[in-house]
Amino acid sequence: MIDTLRLTAEQAAGLLESGELSGDELAGTYVEAIGERDPELHAYLHVVGEPGNGVPIALKDNITTRGVPTTAGSRILEGYVPVFDSTVATRVKEAGLPLIGKTNLDEFAMGSSTENSAYGPSRNPWDPERVPGGSSGGTAAAVAGGLAPWGLGSDTGGSIKQPASLCGLVGLRPTYGTVSRYGIVAFASSLDQVGPITKTVRDCARLYATIAGRDACDSTTVELPEAVAVPDAEDLKGIRIGIPKELNEAEGIEPGVSAAVAKAIELAESLGAEVGECRLPRSVDYGLACYYLVAPAEASSNLARYDGVRYGFRAAGDGDLTALYSRTRWEGFGPEPRRRILIGTYALSAGYYDAFYGQAQKVRTVIAQEHAAAFEDYDLLLSPTSPTVAFKVGDKAENPLAMYLSDLLTIPSNMAGLPGLSIPCGLSEGLPVGLQILGPQFSENLMFRAGHALEQAIAFDFVPERLRA
Ligand code: GLN
Repeated sequence: MIDTLRLTAEQAAGLLESGELSGDELAGTYVEAIGERDPELHAYLHVVGEPGNGVPIALKDNITTRGVPTTAGSRILEGYVPVFDSTVATRVKEAGLPLIGKTNLDEFAMGSSTENSAYGPSRNPWDPERVPGGSSGGTAAAVAGGLAPWGLGSDTGGSIKQPASLCGLVGLRPTYGTVSRYGIVAFASSLDQVGPITKTVRDCARLYATIAGRDACDSTTVELPEAVAVPDAEDLKGIRIGIPKELNEAEGIEPGVSAAVAKAIELAESLGAEVGECRLPRSVDYGLACYYLVAPAEASSNLARYDGVRYGFRAAGDGDLTALYSRTRWEGFGPEPRRRILIGTYALSAGYYDAFYGQAQKVRTVIAQEHAAAFEDYDLLLSPTSPTVAFKVGDKAENPLAMYLSDLLTIPSNMAGLPGLSIPCGLSEGLPVGLQILGPQFSENLMFRAGHALEQAIAFDFVPERLRA
């Protein structure tokens, strides 16, 4: 009997290589686990259960998959079956990873809890009364709940790092431009990146290696400057680690979160890192406000394509084209995309462009410069990933501003195009706490090395306590 809750992707690959298990048996085991636990967790929107010879994978449902429904968590894409594969779907296919299914998300990846999904929320395997985070909450719930050995999410403002943190998993938001966005349902194109959600840092590195690199279909991609290295070092010797004061002392960080992160920082020092304080004052003060101009502005433009003619849902009409557009959009979009389309359209309108969007772009440059200055003195930065542990379903759903604060600590580096890795660093009130490891562009290998060393020292058990055998 395989315990899918405990099995890492690396171990699964080992079982397949040694012939102890066939690919079909492995895929079948996950489909069985889904039958058992997904009614409670609702991690999946579509279960495919493809057999194959590799380690099966779950893909967030904003990742286009040929012949498999892709809804982005929205009614407006209900019934849409793509005729092509996204580049990341192609790459996991070419690597021989069969598709288990498509996972739930906040509508168009707008949210921090999956409660904005038109198909109902996913649940946190650590406590089903709580959210798994979002927007990649379905992938995180699937991996933490033993319904997939690993999966892909997407991160615009924190949608990989935050759910990984809330579910006790490892999540990488890659350097902007290292992973193709071709075939990813676009939210905010200057920020969107696909990345892995896994149980271990080594699994994360392996999956990143599978999907990263230049793609002729996405002109914003680049070749990686060096090959991805699966980490094995157990120390942090020679690594300078900065602790940005504002990211660690921001208002709203729960004391239990601070305590777990403080312990991880002490461990980093005992593993040989040189630790010092640094500052990111303007990034933290203005990051969130800046993001909530740039992201809705880009979203309002990207979401213009859903007109009832080209994809998915179409409202009943009487032959009038304008009415068809507006009825389809009114019935097809939920409240969050609607809110963002309105804010974004306003921020981009002729009379306000300079005051809002133009100003936000300038602030974005300041944020990038502030991070660059911190990386002159330090190789990596540490902070909590999320200010809080997983919150209860319903707690923030009615208050968009409270929900937006979930990403206070993940957004600033995203605005600067930088990579970030979240690893679990302990529990607070019985729920996982995430440690955010930030680095300069293309520092994924160093983040993996540090993340792996810390992971060994922290020895966090990623199997949710209530599900342990
Ligand atoms: N929670 C943020 C938002 O709602 C980030 C979402 C994301 O990264 N996709 O926009």
